[in-house]
Amino acid sequence: RTVYVNGDYLPEDEAKVSVFDRGFLMADAVYEVTSVLGGKLIDFEGHAVRLKRSLDELEMAEPCSKEELLEIHRKLVELNGIDEGLVYLQVSRGSDGDRDFVFPSADTTPTIVLFTQNKPGLADSPASRKGAKIISIEDIRWGRRDIKTVQLLYPSMGKMMAKKAGADDAWMIEDGHVTEGTSNNAYFVKDGVIVTRPLSNDILHGITRKAVLRMAAEAQLKIEERLFTIEEAKEADEAFTTSASAFVMPVVEIDGVALGDGTPGPIAKRLREIYLEESMNAAI
Ligand code: PMP
Repeated sequence: RTVYVNGDYLPEDEAKVSVFDRGFLMADAVYEVTSVLGGKLIDFEGHAVRLKRSLDELEMAEPCSKEELLEIHRKLVELNGIDEGLVYLQVSRGSDGDRDFVFPSADTTPTIVLFTQNKPGLADSPASRKGAKIISIEDIRWGRRDIKTVQLLYPSMGKMMAKKAGADDAWMIEDGHVTEGTSNNAYFVKDGVIVTRPLSNDILHGITRKAVLRMAAEAQLKIEERLFTIEEAKEADEAFTTSASAFVMPVVEIDGVALGDGTPGPIAKRLREIYLEESMNAAI
């Protein structure tokens, strides 16, 4: 695999980042994941805009322009022959050469790393045809989940808790309400109404969420952005998640309770189809 590090395209085993890098030592880094379908980038613009926002919120310098970023994404897709897959991008505050809680001076060069993941069958995945089983766990993450930082230890532990329970993923609960999935936004559907938590600092502002809610509105589906409990979701007709890497993923079971007939619901399946078609048409 060819990866990108600070201006260079290199074989992955030749790429280097400092041991003092604050991304490594302090999770002082932000990231984006953009999917690739038919060799093209899905919603690059959305991811570039959110990256800028994450960097601004943390007073981190932009490593390069949006045009350069697009160029790097495209070149990696081409060099690695990706038809279906993902491009991972990480920007950290870098380092001035030592470990210190105080931020290094503002002119410190940020570290930028990108790599691809080849995922043939991403669009027509067996997982999406089966649907996901989820469990609920407590949300004990920090309070700025709207910033896409690499503090992924708890989401990673949540995924492990799900695996140990024989499920696929976990939804997190704070103050009695579902926040989001470990790496996706959460929705349920009851009597034809799609319910999802409103945007705030409590959840990541999903790029796929934005697109799917727009497409749902265009398809005349009813949407309610409000807080909801896991009990409501368990009594739903169907449920699903959205993310750049899994698009619209039907949820068929919550905490051992099957939703509907235990297979992917019609609205989730329809939104997945609409999302894939429209975003592939708009891919660049
Ligand atoms: N919430 C969390 C916690 C996530 O990690 C992700 C995916 N990175 C999402 C939601 C979905 O966001 P997007 O649609 O932009 O991938």
